Formats: sequence, structure tokens, C-alpha cells
Amino acid sequence: MRITSVISRVVDFPLSAPFHPAWARGRNQPNLLMVLVEVQTDEGISGFSAAHAGLEAAVAIDRFVKPYLVGQDPTRIERLASIWRDAEILGPPVYCVEICLWDLLGRLAGMPVARLWGGFADRVKAYCSTAELRRPEERVEDVQRFLDEGFRAVKLRFHHPDPRDDLKVVEAVRAAVGDRIAIMVDANQAGVEPGLGGHEVWGFRRALEVARELERLGVVWLEEPLPRYDYDGLARLRDRLERLWIAGGEDNHGLHELRLLIDRGCYDVLQPDALLSEGISALRTVAALADTAGLRFAPHTWGNGIGLLANLHLAASVPNCPYLEFPHDPPSGWTAAARDQMLAEPLRIDAEGYVRVPERPGFGFVLDEEAIARHTVATLS
Ligand SMILES: [Mg+2]
Repeated sequence: MRITSVISRVVDFPLSAPFHPAWARGRNQPNLLMVLVEVQTDEGISGFSAAHAGLEAAVAIDRFVKPYLVGQDPTRIERLASIWRDAEILGPPVYCVEICLWDLLGRLAGMPVARLWGGFADRVKAYCSTAELRRPEERVEDVQRFLDEGFRAVKLRFHHPDPRDDLKVVEAVRAAVGDRIAIMVDANQAGVEPGLGGHEVWGFRRALEVARELERLGVVWLEEPLPRYDYDGLARLRDRLERLWIAGGEDNHGLHELRLLIDRGCYDVLQPDALLSEGISALRTVAALADTAGLRFAPHTWGNGIGLLANLHLAASVPNCPYLEFPHDPPSGWTAAARDQMLAEPLRIDAEGYVRVPERPGFGFVLDEEAIARHTVATLS
């Protein structure tokens, strides 16, 4: 079997309501932008993936990946992995391409990818990952609704100029629902969107003060309290805490850097993303390295349902993944239904708040071809 083509479609889905992500203060995000990637073969079978990006990723795949993939055997994934690693020297991350090949291999084998990888779990506990800043009383209502929907964990954003205003949200939620829901907090300090003014920048002292309050409130983890290369600060912070986990890694790239985060003792929970951080099978190595250090592994996922499914298989394949990120923040435009517009059916949680790994071959993508065609704005093939 040989690869005959790599097709990148830039798809721009609208959101049906305003969406103000906390990490991009003041900005309304009107759309979900992605690149649908298809690796085609001479046997008529294809594998799919998606970049959490726009035209820049399509161009990078076309220039730095496609010329080296065409003519290759798509099942020799380990041999090809240096292609997407080296592509990042010159362009945006295109690690998502590896997902196409595992999807293809799973389809050939007639098995879900998570099971090809040993199938540790059939489902992973979801945490409802919110994005907007809301008033305490609004978040209490949201969280009560999430509980009714079946969620057992929720992640809140800390981005107020004064973090005491963020803490009031956690206090209100805790007072309203007690221990019925696990709470995570994300400060998004590891990186900001360029040029937008971003949000309040924390230093070590503020991170420690917030972390101690969160520990008192029984929060599970504090995510990205410091910049992504502040290895010393992260390790020092982690040393001062007893129960609260420090989580991060979504903005670090490559096996070497992810290993550094483990070796330097920066995080309790490693959170690389199979679309952004490394090839998806190398991330299984990161999970194993984390496991040897007694750490957990909980992949980041955000931009689209294809990425969520890929990260779900990754999460279910390893023994040390406690939670799966499940982006969903109604009544904003960023909901599970919006996130999964490219799929025939949005992913749902079961009655216990877990996401099940689909039994379908590969990653189990069932694309909504009609919706994708309607919102495709550019095709590179
Ligand atoms: Mg995050």
C-alpha cells in the first residue's frame, strides 16, 4: 500500500452564539476554524485527522509533509514520524498528520486505535471544560446544569485582573454543590494569544497564593500557573503544595521538552495534545515516562471533535489518565454540538460522566460530509 495524496481542507464553521474565551480578553470568537486532513492511498482507503488551525497548517502540510509522504507505506508510522517533527522547524505544528495514519491502520485492522494500543480503558471520565468568565451566580447555575447532564468534574478559568474575583466563583460553586463535582482551575499562564494583550500575567507569589486557596477549597488541579519554560518556578510551586496537583504541558512541544517537564518535576499532570504537541504515539511514550515518575497524563484538547476523539483514544490507551478534557460552555457559542459540527453525531458522556471509546475501526470518525463541504473555504491537494 502506498500513499497517493494528502488533502488539506480549511473548514470555517460558524458559532451560533457569541463566545468570549477568557484567555483572549475582549475578543468574541465567531467561528470554529480547522483543517480536515485526509491521507489517501492506492487501495482506496483513507485516514483522517484535523488541525486546530487554519490556512497556515494547510500550507505547512502541503509544503513540509505531503512531498515526503506520497509514495510511502502508510503503515510504517514510526519510520515516518521524523517528517512531522522536522516540519515544525519551518512551520506551525502539524503533528496531527500522524493521526491520519493511525486512523488508516485501525481501519485496516478493523479495530479502534485505543485497542491496537492495548486498550487500558473503554471509557474515560470527562471534565466539562469551560472557557468564559462568568459571575459566581451564573457559574453556580451552569454547574448545577452540568451535574444534571451527568458531569462529575468541571474546569473553571482564572482570568480576572484580581484573582480573588476568580476564587469567589470557586467558593460559590463549592458552597452550592459541595463535593458532588470535582473542580479544576486553568490560569492559562503558559502562553497567551499573540498581540491581543492577553490577560493578567501572574508571578510566582500570585501563583502560590492562588494555589493555597485552591488547596483549601479542595480543587483537583491548578493548570498552567506559570510560563511554559519556568521549570524552576513550577517545581518550586509544586514543592510547596500538599494536595493540589499542578497541571500543564499543552504549550510545550516535542518529546524532549515534554521529558524535561517530567525530569524537572514541573507538573503532577502532563497535558500534551495529539494535535499540537507531538505525534500521538510519542505521546504514549510521554504517558509512560510520566507513569515511571508517579505522574498522571490527561491530554489537552480544544478545537474540534476530531481532535477530541483522537485524544480520547490516547487517554484510554494508557493506565495513568484520570480525566479527559470535554470542551463545552453553554450558553456561549462553544458547546459540544458546535465543537463537533464536522461529525455526524456530537460526542456525549454516559450516565456516570464518562466518554466511551467508539467501537468503530480507527478513531471512529463519522464525518458530516455535507456540513464540511458547505463550510470549506480552501482546499490544498
Ligand atoms: Mg489549558
